[in-house]
Amino acid sequence: MTQQTLKQVEQYLEMMKGSGLDLVHRAEREFNTVSKSSVELQNRNPKNALIELRGTVLKCTKCTQLATARKSVVFGSGNASAKLVFVGEAPGYEEDIQGLPFVGRAGQLLTKIIESIGLSRQSVFICNVLKCRPPGNRNPSPDEIANCEPYLFKQLELIQPKMICALGTFAAQTLLKTTTPISGLRGKFYDFRGAQLICTFHPAYLLRNPEDKRKTWEDMKKIRSELDRIE
Ligand code: SF4
Repeated sequence: MTQQTLKQVEQYLEMMKGSGLDLVHRAEREFNTVSKSSVELQNRNPKNALIELRGTVLKCTKCTQLATARKSVVFGSGNASAKLVFVGEAPGYEEDIQGLPFVGRAGQLLTKIIESIGLSRQSVFICNVLKCRPPGNRNPSPDEIANCEPYLFKQLELIQPKMICALGTFAAQTLLKTTTPISGLRGKFYDFRGAQLICTFHPAYLLRNPEDKRKTWEDMKKIRSELDRIE
């Protein structure tokens, strides 16, 4: 297989990611097997490393309670070379069923938020701090966050986004290593390993507190103008 063909296969798999088709996951495994023979290409392309990381995370059982109760491990979906990555808290009921992030009511609102600044879900990457659903949608425990955050940091290292948007308290506090509430963190930029990080309210919170949507809109406008500046 030529390097050009490998590239085309890889682009196709990226495009299909998030469709939920098991066929894509099988194709990824087969693609990995073939592409491993091309060590030079493998080393040059962080997308392959992201697919490998996904394989590791899907098998993870570090949090016994979550691993026992889950239906899916929700790795994340979207563009593996995204300029903007959204990080939420943890999968909910719908996400656990479908194996995809932000697909319930909060996910529909996130889609609208993303589209409000002229982007699409396919153009960004969306993931969570925890890759498995806490039973009953309880808050993630400190131990679970400590277990799972290395996967998040590795995702960000491989994707190398220019901007990161932390959605809600757990994402903001995990990325910024702080205990400050989200209300005290949102609305300004922070440096996260060379990327610009901004925090805003979680869409699930906005569904319960629609009066704060305006503040999130202000945060989104800041993201849009910063993306315009760096593009
Ligand atoms: S939440 Fe993360 S660390 Fe815990 S079992 Fe799931 S993938 Fe592993």
